[in-house]
Amino acid sequence: MKLQSFTLHNYKKIPQINKLTEAQIEAIEVVGNVLPFKTNNYVVNELIDWNNLESDPIFKLTFPQKGMLSKEHYDTMKIILAHTRDKNIIKNTANIIRHELNPHPAGQLEHNVPMLNGERLTGMQHKYRETLLFFPSQGQTCHAYCTFCFRWPQFVGMDELKFAARESSHLKDYVVKNKEVTDILFTGGDPMIMKAKIFASYIEPLLEAKPENLQTIRIGTKALGYWPYKFVSDDDADELLNLFERIVKSGINLTIMAHFSHPVELDTDIVKTAIARLRSAGVQIRTQSPVLKHINDSPEVWAEMWRKQVNLNCIPYYMFIPRDTGAQDYFALTLEKAWIIFREAYQKVSGVCRTVRGPSMSCTPGKVQILGVSELKGEKVFVLRMLQGRNSDWVARPFFAEFNPNAIWMDDLKPAFDEDKFFFEDELDILFNEHITDVEVENFE
Ligand SMILES: *Cc1c(COP(=O)(O)O)cnc(C)c1O
Ligand code: SF4
Repeated sequence: MKLQSFTLHNYKKIPQINKLTEAQIEAIEVVGNVLPFKTNNYVVNELIDWNNLESDPIFKLTFPQKGMLSKEHYDTMKIILAHTRDKNIIKNTANIIRHELNPHPAGQLEHNVPMLNGERLTGMQHKYRETLLFFPSQGQTCHAYCTFCFRWPQFVGMDELKFAARESSHLKDYVVKNKEVTDILFTGGDPMIMKAKIFASYIEPLLEAKPENLQTIRIGTKALGYWPYKFVSDDDADELLNLFERIVKSGINLTIMAHFSHPVELDTDIVKTAIARLRSAGVQIRTQSPVLKHINDSPEVWAEMWRKQVNLNCIPYYMFIPRDTGAQDYFALTLEKAWIIFREAYQKVSGVCRTVRGPSMSCTPGKVQILGVSELKGEKVFVLRMLQGRNSDWVARPFFAEFNPNAIWMDDLKPAFDEDKFFFEDELDILFNEHITDVEVENFE
């Protein structure tokens, strides 16, 4: 199977296009000029049910929908498109709207950039002590784009590759020097968009140096969901699997952090074959996804997804809350609702599926898990804990926020019991101020 991408420029060539209503076409044009839009022939032919578009999860996951922009933004773009074909005017309008969609949540670009020999290593992020995120420059796109994705700014060219690594030796050098790093997590975009040879250029120096602190190489990818042929029949599939096998044989754990949004992504023959091939190469597969309105906002869907994953030898890992950016209003559930979905799904499965943790928000201090809603000292509260912390000492400490039935993100939460700060806030301020000084010094130079 050959990958055929569909974007705003050629989506009308999709064979099923006549199934779309005029309103759906309008939404694609209007929203697709602001937020990224890319799908492909596998997603279109194997995952989407074209006779049920109104409720189809993968249609909503990859095709722009009207509700993804506010009415005001939508109408603005619609009027512009009705009056001009001038690309600059359209782009300027899009950029004004984009800047109002909180394009850089949680300081993604500015914070946590590590240093090596006095040089800032853009393309790496070292937020949690054990795990180094690595963004290879050739892995900054995907086989299709998820409409909720917090990385949308880079896909529409707002921060083009500013955030990507080019120098493969830096990765090895940094891991050799920083003994606390046990895990490297390749991320993107989707690193599995890279050819095997390019991926190998980042891996070979690690296999050669074999830093004894390096335990696990992880690859965050949605290729099993959007393009499983990558591991089966693409030109470089065998080469890639061989490389994976060599990593495993060298004694390093190799884990695919597979992003699956809905059980339908686990049903095709090709995804089952891809998973089986990865497993027989010794690769572990752990699964994660945000919980999203219109896509997977029911406990039945999650329970089914976890069961199918376990049956295919994958390990359920994280349920996330979608970040406060882009089309968040379309996808966001209240924190209470997200927790109810998690809890009810978790109750429906046995312990082998309960390796999953969540719902979890990746925010500035760390990954915050909603353990539940409870009542303490007569006050209704959210019980929270950190699954990951900018300071490891914060991890696994329970803490409390005032219950807020409308809260959809950490910013909406206040400490419970009339306390004026969460326990980590003073320390976070100190960590941040140190960092801001770094940046100022750098700009000054
Ligand atoms: C989630 C995340 C990781 C990995 O965390 P684990 O809990 O070990 O899976 C690493 N770095 C960042 C910035 C993250 O958001
Ligand atoms: S595959 Fe991952 S990085 Fe790519 S659009 Fe989807 S969520 Fe974002």
